[in-house]
Amino acid sequence: MSMCEDSLLCNFPKCRAVLTGFAWVTACSHAFCDQHGSGEFSRSPAICPACSSALSGKLDIVRTELAPSEEYKAMVLAGLRPETVLDISGRALAFWTYQVQQERLYQEYSLSRADAQVKQMEKLLAQQNQTRELELNAMRGEITSLKKVMEEYKRKYSDVSERLMERNRQYQKLQGLYDSLRLRNMVGERDGRVAPPQYSTGAGRPASPGSSPQFPGCDGDRLFSSLDPNNARGFFHFSTPPHPKARAFPRKQ
Ligand SMILES: [Zn+2]
Ligand SMILES: [Zn+2]
Repeated sequence: MSMCEDSLLCNFPKCRAVLTGFAWVTACSHAFCDQHGSGEFSRSPAICPACSSALSGKLDIVRTELAPSEEYKAMVLAGLRPETVLDISGRALAFWTYQVQQERLYQEYSLSRADAQVKQMEKLLAQQNQTRELELNAMRGEITSLKKVMEEYKRKYSDVSERLMERNRQYQKLQGLYDSLRLRNMVGERDGRVAPPQYSTGAGRPASPGSSPQFPGCDGDRLFSSLDPNNARGFFHFSTPPHPKARAFPRKQ
């Protein structure tokens, strides 16, 4: 109800319609819209829907025009003594004041209820924020530990790459060494000056030009990778064609 609009509201529970045109007013100081008034007060005995008062008097319920005509206003109190006019006016003002007070109480009650709801919501929100904060902190901790794990993996990866590159370098060196030896052997064979290389490592199998020499009991790559390039040179040295003793090795054919 907005009192600034100078209108009362229907007192029927949950109606609160702004009273315009005709209103039903009662001796117990309640007012109702035309719909609720005509509905409630057509039966007998009449009971006020707002305060349950019995309204049996002739003038306990009045259907009144809220915007009376000028003619009505000119005549309704005409001829009455001044104190009677003031008495009537005073009672009408008391009715209005009571309605305004009731509306104020209702608004205050609504306000306090809304206030309680707001407080409840704020409390809930604060709890939710706290929960979110805790979850966020837990996630931050998880991210930090995952970052650490990732750093650890990166470090391991870089170590392994380093080792792989080192192994590759060793392999390239040995491959170059092997290729040059095979080339020399091929040249020697073509010139007929040098016999095919013989290996006296036990298997005694001659190396064919297209394949690498086989070493008994050894996996080729593993042997190569574990050899120091300088040692490898010495290792292969015995079968180098220019070596004079190469011819003296026993031939198994
Ligand atoms: Zn109503
Ligand atoms: Zn009443």
